Amino acid sequence: MREQIIRELIDITGPDYVTADREQIQSYIFDQVEETYRPEPSRDFVVVKPGRTEEVSQIMKLASREKIPVVVRGGGTGLAGGCTPIYSSIVISMERMNRIVEIDADNMMAVLEAGVTLMELLTELEKYEGLSFPVHPGDEGAQMGGMAVTNAGGARAVRHGVMRKHIMGVEAVLPSGEVLELGGKLIKNNAGYNLTQLLLGSEGTLAVITRVILKIYPKDKYSATIVAPFPHFENACRAVMDILKSGSVPLAVEYMDKRLFVGTAEMLGLEWQAKEGDSDLLIILSEKTEEQLYNSVREINEICRKNSCLETLFAGKKREQDELLLVRSQHYEYIKNDICDSFDMAVPVSQVPAFIGDLKHLAEEYHTGTNVIAHIADGNVHNDILYVDGKIPNYAAELKQRMYDACFSHGGTITGEHGVGKIRVNDLLRQKDPAELELMRGIKKVFDPDNIMNPGTVI
Ligand SMILES: Cc1cc2nc3c(=O)[nH]c(=O)nc-3n(C[C@H](O)[C@H](O)[C@H](O)COP(=O)(O)OP(=O)(O)OC[C@H]3O[C@@H](n4cnc5c(N)ncnc54)[C@H](O)[C@@H]3O)c2cc1C
Repeated sequence: MREQIIRELIDITGPDYVTADREQIQSYIFDQVEETYRPEPSRDFVVVKPGRTEEVSQIMKLASREKIPVVVRGGGTGLAGGCTPIYSSIVISMERMNRIVEIDADNMMAVLEAGVTLMELLTELEKYEGLSFPVHPGDEGAQMGGMAVTNAGGARAVRHGVMRKHIMGVEAVLPSGEVLELGGKLIKNNAGYNLTQLLLGSEGTLAVITRVILKIYPKDKYSATIVAPFPHFENACRAVMDILKSGSVPLAVEYMDKRLFVGTAEMLGLEWQAKEGDSDLLIILSEKTEEQLYNSVREINEICRKNSCLETLFAGKKREQDELLLVRSQHYEYIKNDICDSFDMAVPVSQVPAFIGDLKHLAEEYHTGTNVIAHIADGNVHNDILYVDGKIPNYAAELKQRMYDACFSHGGTITGEHGVGKIRVNDLLRQKDPAELELMRGIKKVFDPDNIMNPGTVI
């Protein structure tokens, strides 16, 4: 990066918050995507850490004037290579913009700078008895801005939906440096096109989010976790559909092939108590009263039983529930050395059994395996392609396309939550109609005529 640009950045933020030093910028290169599919990073970038919106605006004016690509870095927990700079770039790290501006308990909304992490928000809400924020992607290091522009989901989407549902407004800095206030603390707001929603899911390709207005919620007091093992994944899927139809909505319904629960528990020095069957559901319930919780547990047990569940195990104590959730959330550590590519396709809930069946058949056809993990009540199925002898198998690209074919044949999408990022740009072309892609390109041009915002991402 040219010396003059670095000097101008230093003028904006001060010398402590600009670095192009090789060693120091190492940790700003990658996110959490598998090593084998990481985008090739540029070796020429400068990291700047603004502390205020006005500084972000000045950085964007500079980048626009010089037509230098800008990559915004949130928590770096993304799974699509989105925050990796692949061209000579200015990387804006949002880490210093982590002020909790306001917890507005009367309106049940929080105003947060974009660099506030999920963990910081949850810790802050602990101070306000009875408040919580439900969206929970697996890594609490994710920032509000990152969660907003990836439209993060996670296990609790079955009851609470994804980020789109909870963001009522944002402050955003356009590539030109102009600062926009979009939306507000409004439940109803039909004034013109909803640009807030357009920025959600835009993966840093349209604007820098500097602030979010977020809905917050009263916390449920009572919770329980059920482990329901089934003889076959189809039984588990049918049980999920029946649960959803019953009207009792769990906080989370997570599916994993049983061997993954067993293996991950072992890795953690625990024992997976559900011994029978080959497909397990982890069903988390949370309710306002003990009676509601009791009724939900009874109803869900009954539905599972009718769908050939082999036994249900119940955890009511917090420690026991935390342990079960830990096994679910640590499964990646258990499998990560075996997988070269992973997916988060989503299909309509009714199509999940056929889709999982297709994924397993495809794996068999290629004489390999695949790990199936799902936010199953959202139709969001995670699976993977495995290394063969420590190498990417020569059929990997073909198998991926066939998995996508299966996904499309069930009315699905290539990504339910992780986004397109830099690793699925070509895959998006397969899913979307040319007319839709053209509209997306047009929108990108209106916001970012010089294509400086995270080029090579999404579109
Ligand atoms: C163990 C693990 C489990 C996960 N589970 C889930 C899950 O269940 N559901 C789910 O949805 N995701 C999940 N993720 C993925 C990840 O946590 C989310 O995508 C998260 O929302 C990314 O936030 P981040 O702040 O880390 O963003 P980053 O990784 O830093 O960036 C992601 C994208 O957003 C852009 N960006 C970041 N901040 C801003 C900003 N302020 N303004 C403009 N653009 C910005 C970046 O340029 C990049 O394109 C998981 C990740 C891990 C490691």
